[in-house]
Amino acid sequence: MTALPSFDLANQVALVTGASSGIGRHLAELLANAGAKVALAARRVDRLAEAAREIEAAGGQCLPIACDVTRSDSVAAAVAVAENTLGALTILVNNAGVVVAKPVLQHTEEEWDYVVDTNLKGAWLMAREFAQHLVDRQRPGRIVNIASVLGVRTIARVPSYTAAKAGLIHLTGVLAMELARHGILVNAIAPGYVETDFNRDFLRSDAGKKLEARIPLRRVARPDDLDGAMLLLASPAGAYITGAVIAVDGGHGVAAI
Ligand code: NDP
Repeated sequence: MTALPSFDLANQVALVTGASSGIGRHLAELLANAGAKVALAARRVDRLAEAAREIEAAGGQCLPIACDVTRSDSVAAAVAVAENTLGALTILVNNAGVVVAKPVLQHTEEEWDYVVDTNLKGAWLMAREFAQHLVDRQRPGRIVNIASVLGVRTIARVPSYTAAKAGLIHLTGVLAMELARHGILVNAIAPGYVETDFNRDFLRSDAGKKLEARIPLRRVARPDDLDGAMLLLASPAGAYITGAVIAVDGGHGVAAI
């Protein structure tokens, strides 16, 4: 009988950005549950400490790290401390993100920079630091970028966000090509709407409820809807997948919403 694919992450060390809330916090718990040691990176250290306590209470091993992904010195320090404390890093999840919802004519330069620097430049800084670290040590690894359905299709009022997520999807492809020779696989997950601090007010509004009714699966996602794609891309089961963008959006991306 053919052996079943392995989703086991024992002996892996993951760094998850934006692990202080929402999707990132959930994915950090998931990776810890699957056996990885996990570095939790974000700016709010109180929230990171709370997430770390929960992971440890469930028997996982983790390390909260104060990190601002928009600053290269902070990114370099996070990669170094994660490896020095938890051991050989093998998985990076670029999840940190912010959104500003405003029409293009009202978007300020500061808002544009804030959104693009966090979602796109931050992911690039992290990927570059992580990949260089692994290449120097001749170690294979995985990078999973959390993009968005809005990186594939557009809606009004989020110009900087859609542009940053589209850029992140293209960056995923270039990283996949350039890093394949080093055994580093790079993929993206493009979630549809997931209820978190990011969008809770909108999703509970009348407009949010109307949008939810138009999603083919008729509901927004829960963070755990991303689990299958995340484990696939981080584990031995995904050993021949690189440069892929996996939509986890209840059909949102293919519907005329
Ligand atoms: P949250 O607002 O709950 O989480 C965002 C996370 O990003 C926080 O942990 C925040 O931590 C972190 N973050 C923001 N700026 C920085 C920074 N400069 N440096 C380090 N960390 C930072 O939102 P979600 O969980 O919903 O979003 C997570 C990701 O998923 C984002 O990339 C988002 O674009 C993407 N996504 C979300 C969807 C949704 O519907 N919720 C749909 C599709 C994609 P802190 O403030 O502590 O630094």
